[in-house]
Amino acid sequence: MYYADIKQYDVANGPGVRVSLFVSGCTHHCKNCFNEVAWDFHYGNEFTEREIETILHDLSPNYVKGLTLLGGEPLEHANQQGLLPLLRRVHETYPTKDIWCFTGYDFDRDVKGRMMKDWPETKELFSYIDVLVDGKFVEALKSVALRFKGSSNQRTIDVKRSLECGETVLMEGF
Ligand code: SF4
Repeated sequence: MYYADIKQYDVANGPGVRVSLFVSGCTHHCKNCFNEVAWDFHYGNEFTEREIETILHDLSPNYVKGLTLLGGEPLEHANQQGLLPLLRRVHETYPTKDIWCFTGYDFDRDVKGRMMKDWPETKELFSYIDVLVDGKFVEALKSVALRFKGSSNQRTIDVKRSLECGETVLMEGF
């Protein structure tokens, strides 16, 4: 897996101060994408053990609330494979910090309906992810009033509650 950037103090992509990882590679190709360079799966630098250690270090202060995954597309299969070792370590080291993930895929149709059935990584990955912001960015539905979202079709999903009850549960206040 390759990545475009790691932000140590990010307040724009989830609540509180967060560490954000922008992975490379995205097949959605949304019109007016905010980050077109990251469509290329080899954009930026290779994600290695060194980057895992950097992220674990950056997450260590008490005021850092959690980790955010975005891109690019974190849920492309190659990126799920690349993210799994990181998420295992983050969950093991900081079980109380939360993990947010932004995806252009649909939680019901793509994640539960296809990825969890076809790919061995997806269920474990989603046992570590707390919140998923799903859906492609749609220019016609763009709104600057939305919190941590670009367009009104996107949803902020409480992953744990959704998987427990079998229905998609949205996060309150988002
Ligand atoms: S999913 Fe995100 S990164 Fe991918 S094309 Fe759409 S806006 Fe760009």
